[in-house]
Amino acid sequence: MPATMEALVVLEPNRLEIQEVPVPTPGPDQVLARVRAVSICGTDAHLVRGDYPHFWPPEFPFIPGHEWAGEIVALGPGADRYGWAVGDRIAGTSHDACGVCQKCVEGRYNLCENYGRPGLHRQYGHNIQGADATYVIHGIKSVFHLPDGLTFDEGALVDPASIALHVANRGGVAPGDTVAIIGAGAIGLLSGDAALARGAGRVVLIERVQARLAKARALGFEAIDAEAGDPVATIRAMTGGLGADVVLECAGVPQAVQWALAMLRRGGRCAAVGIPTVGVEIPMQKLVLDELELVGCRASAGEMRRVMPLVEQGRIRVRELITHRYPLADYAQAMATFNDPASGAIKIIVQP
Ligand SMILES: [Zn+2]
Ligand SMILES: [Zn+2]
Repeated sequence: MPATMEALVVLEPNRLEIQEVPVPTPGPDQVLARVRAVSICGTDAHLVRGDYPHFWPPEFPFIPGHEWAGEIVALGPGADRYGWAVGDRIAGTSHDACGVCQKCVEGRYNLCENYGRPGLHRQYGHNIQGADATYVIHGIKSVFHLPDGLTFDEGALVDPASIALHVANRGGVAPGDTVAIIGAGAIGLLSGDAALARGAGRVVLIERVQARLAKARALGFEAIDAEAGDPVATIRAMTGGLGADVVLECAGVPQAVQWALAMLRRGGRCAAVGIPTVGVEIPMQKLVLDELELVGCRASAGEMRRVMPLVEQGRIRVRELITHRYPLADYAQAMATFNDPASGAIKIIVQP
């Protein structure tokens, strides 16, 4: 094992550097992995810009990256008791929760009540070193066997696929439901497949960026251009005036949240995963009188293993979303491409 490795270091907001840093040593119930592919997430773009001061990351300099795949090269003490071995191919996820608090024991470890407490909870690439490096350490709760049929690039998208499945699960999508999805970025498109996997009868994506609309249609979804007219009226017209049984809000802007509630059928449910940076006015009268439900969705909670066969079978399509690939050394260029709406980028893979 070499003593040092290449890593992408964010020195301060918007200042990136590839540095030679020490290879970390895995602790109890941790593994050290050779990272083969990392996918750029919208959260990475926010984090690099410094949009979450003193939270993600708690401090600079920082190594981001949390959607990744690779192979185990060393085991920390005890990791073998759970069946892990050097050479295992794995996909990682970010939450490594305490496992002891009430939310953890109820399976909702994404809401760990010891969030961020040193030694109890880690969120890789958010509050502790991430995978934008040759090697990364992960606790065994946050790595999952990657089937032989999936490449490392595809494996890097298992984490966002698990989030999409979590969104569809939180939305309570039932067989035959009409599901409207606002935002046809990676999570919106993956959520479309996740809704179908839960039995949705019809999935309609709403998007204003033309390249994303084209991608949604190329994947076989019905898609509405949000700029071409009132998407609420369009969804109502498409459903005989009733509205959508479920809306998955994957855009994270105030107008999208208001559209979501306005296009719901009576008794309908909106699951929101987009995170608006400002407050949003909610029509409480409609929510109360129509018994609407509005739920939040944070990362995933148990969906990594459940989504793996769906990804392997191509029922949740990940390969189709990869639009660009860069070596880690070109991360700044990769991020610029990700942030450029004209690039057509959906998912960008970075290879350390
Ligand atoms: Zn992510
Ligand atoms: Zn916990």
